[in-house]
Amino acid sequence: MTNFSRRNFLKTVGIGGAATVTGFGCAAPGRATNANGAHVVVVGGGSGGATAAKYLKRFSPEMDVTLIEPTATYYTCYGSNWVLGGHAQMDDIAQNYDALQSRHGVNVVQDSVTEIDPARRTVKTAGGDTMTYDRLILSPGIDFRYDAIPGITAADSERIPHAWKAGDQTTILRRQLEAMPDGGVFVMVAPGNPFRCPPGPYERASMVAHYFKQEKPRSKIIILDNKENFSKQGLFMEGWEQHYGDMIEWVPSSRGGQVEEIDAANLTTISDGGFTEFKADVLNYIPPQTAGAIAMQTGLAGDGFWCPVDQMTFESSIHPGIYVIGDSSVAGAMPKSGHSANNQAKVAAAAISREMAGLEPLAPSTANTCYSLITPDHAISVAAVYAYTDGAMAGVEGSGGVSPAGAPASVRQMEAIYTKGWYDGITGDIWG
Ligand SMILES: Cc1cc2nc3c(=O)[nH]c(=O)nc-3n(C[C@H](O)[C@H](O)[C@H](O)COP(=O)(O)OP(=O)(O)OC[C@H]3O[C@@H](n4cnc5c(N)ncnc54)[C@H](O)[C@@H]3O)c2cc1C
Repeated sequence: MTNFSRRNFLKTVGIGGAATVTGFGCAAPGRATNANGAHVVVVGGGSGGATAAKYLKRFSPEMDVTLIEPTATYYTCYGSNWVLGGHAQMDDIAQNYDALQSRHGVNVVQDSVTEIDPARRTVKTAGGDTMTYDRLILSPGIDFRYDAIPGITAADSERIPHAWKAGDQTTILRRQLEAMPDGGVFVMVAPGNPFRCPPGPYERASMVAHYFKQEKPRSKIIILDNKENFSKQGLFMEGWEQHYGDMIEWVPSSRGGQVEEIDAANLTTISDGGFTEFKADVLNYIPPQTAGAIAMQTGLAGDGFWCPVDQMTFESSIHPGIYVIGDSSVAGAMPKSGHSANNQAKVAAAAISREMAGLEPLAPSTANTCYSLITPDHAISVAAVYAYTDGAMAGVEGSGGVSPAGAPASVRQMEAIYTKGWYDGITGDIWG
């Protein structure tokens, strides 16, 4: 995917289908003059922001694109569960901004945005800079609602890691799992919908079980879930039974899974009005989530937790000129995933490029694929195609689906190979 031409990309992810490919192709010459001098600032160099910056330069090479991101190394959440399972290292999930800067001409600024003024169209950074923008793309990921239940605060996240943003948190959780004695209990608290990466908690349980099976086979994994069902549930449960017996216990919200309080000092969860307690050796509390802090602070989520956008372009419904993509946005049927963020970034970049050329946006179509490893050689997946329909990104009937139930080991093994291929492809497309 790294060497995609604009036309090939549009064909592949199908933004607007055939009509869009033609329309965008025709639009290209006009943009060269009209986008000249326009300054687009992109906040956040993760899955959405890095893609947006790169594709803005591809669609409109004359555009001035600044990407603001605080870290020099971005660790992908995808693959972070493999690190927890012990068959990948942090280096394997590390990405940097060298290619965006040197190959694609993006101005990469290592800083953090502290304030956005939508009326003046300026951003301020922690480093003391103020920049003006013509258009702003915001992809700040997620923040956590530690106030959702009593007994735990953000200050506890060193001892009770969420590991829902990859990096130090991943390393902390891995070390705790390594230090846990055989026969210990790993308790994960999974959030209710919507949240970042719907299959993520269940892949995590699988990867931890893979590690325990080799190193600590008497140990137990309990998933306390704030839901009654979860993504790819049948396939996960089939794989768990096949590889891990009764090592993983999933507790839905109606059977005590809805955690109401945490006794952080004793690594204990409390549910059922105080009648049910689970004491953990390693506790992984994944809090409910909101749009990234800078989006919340700018009022882009209104009274809610996520940012409403015009799903044709991903321009904010609240502040014109600001495009919110990735996990922070409300994107119809699209899940909060890296693949979704990558596709939404291309929609926003195309809409801005067209606008700068005086062209109307085209109705987008996008895709999502999520692979999950149950063992390093057993993977399952879900895929879907979405199209802008009646004002929202809706699933296209008959597209996508999940891996077949009861498939032979050879099929699961091929999907494990595709998982790695997907990782290499998408990270090459985003940061390569
Ligand atoms: C365990 C796990 C497994 C996952 N597996 C998959 C998978 O297999 N496939 C998949 O598609 N998705 C997966 N995901 C989901 C995926 O990681 C996210 O959906 C995706 O990264 C969202 O992209 P984003 O751009 O919205 O946010 P992010 O990728 O989190 O990027 C946000 C960026 O914004 C920066 N930022 C935040 N605030 C500011 C600020 N004020 N100023 C400047 N920069 C700022 C941050 O530093 C960060 O780099 C997984 C997630 C988890 C937790």
